[in-house]
Amino acid sequence: MKAAVLYGKEELNIVPDFEDPIIKESEVLIRSKYTGLCSTDRTLYRGFVPFKPPLIIGHEIAGVVEEVGKSAKTLEVGDHVIIPPVYPGCGDENCPACKEGLTNRCKNSIFIGHGVNGGDAEFIAVPSRYTFKIKESVPLDEACIIPDAVSTPFHGLKSRSVPPHIIQNSSNPSKLFDQSTHWLKGKNVVVFGVGGVGGPTVNLAARYFQAKNVLAVDIFDNKLEFAKKLGATHVVNSKTYFEENNISINEISGKDRAKTISGLARYITSNFAEDKFQVDCVLDCSGVSDTFPIAVETVSKNRTIIQVGWPPKPVREFLNQKIMDKYITINGTWACPMNEMKEIVKAVENNTVDLDLLVTNKDYKLDSLENAIHDLEAGKILGRATINIV
Ligand SMILES: [Zn+2]
Ligand SMILES: [Zn+2]
Repeated sequence: MKAAVLYGKEELNIVPDFEDPIIKESEVLIRSKYTGLCSTDRTLYRGFVPFKPPLIIGHEIAGVVEEVGKSAKTLEVGDHVIIPPVYPGCGDENCPACKEGLTNRCKNSIFIGHGVNGGDAEFIAVPSRYTFKIKESVPLDEACIIPDAVSTPFHGLKSRSVPPHIIQNSSNPSKLFDQSTHWLKGKNVVVFGVGGVGGPTVNLAARYFQAKNVLAVDIFDNKLEFAKKLGATHVVNSKTYFEENNISINEISGKDRAKTISGLARYITSNFAEDKFQVDCVLDCSGVSDTFPIAVETVSKNRTIIQVGWPPKPVREFLNQKIMDKYITINGTWACPMNEMKEIVKAVENNTVDLDLLVTNKDYKLDSLENAIHDLEAGKILGRATINIV
């Protein structure tokens, strides 16, 4: 089969005759149609994280079932499907994380396109129980972004946003997590970073979880315009704030820096003056460590910060006192548990996620994958790019 194979750092070759995968009884063979381009692909390509070559990259996959294993009863040849990038590898679901329902944190998690071969190839073999059918009305060149770009913020918003004391003191905690009665409904949400993951975060918070206000923060005006299209009610360009106040944030430290950070936070929260400056949930999708102290200043007391983007460096500020004093819950999030995937598929099928807006680049083919990675790196891709495999 044709495949995009990484043989080492920056050695990405399009191989015409890579060995076809052979399915086990419990697996299905998927003809990969489209993949979403993720910054993880770039991270692997640049060799920033270790991997075992040769590796077929691509972990946001939509395709069609080509062959069904003997015991794989849930799917049929021809079904349109999406595949989550991280699924449990423990088999019997007998590991501590899976037992607690955290199938996204399985001790033997399988990472498609990183730990095992991915979807930037004609075929991929996957367990049928972790392959999710999707209606043919959802175009596959948009469906491919569901498994990661949409599902990761979905899990963050759905399951990581509610402060513990609200759960503890609720007479019916499960209602806090159901869409129609979700805790975020009518709340004020701030999203830092409107990229491939921040975009879906804005869209889901506004449309699916029905937050009252969604404020997006970025340093690029075109991204903020994009956020407005996706449902942001307010936008703030943090770079403009620094420019207007003649501040070079990277050149100041100590008290000056702390003052600037809280100044920016006040500037952000002033948009919610009518709501007593209330910020109920902050999602950091920026992938920049320096955003975190701003998030801590921005979020209201007794509320939650969710770390969605991967920050490459540690945070330089000492924030323990602030976190304690504000009684903040800081939640990490990681991929998406298998039991939430069906809800996401339904949300997409019911048109409560604007996939057509989130996918902004559809012109890349497998042969131009390397160009796509370069364009992503150069900031030329506004939302998500998808790769046409065939
Ligand atoms: Zn990804
Ligand atoms: Zn497990």
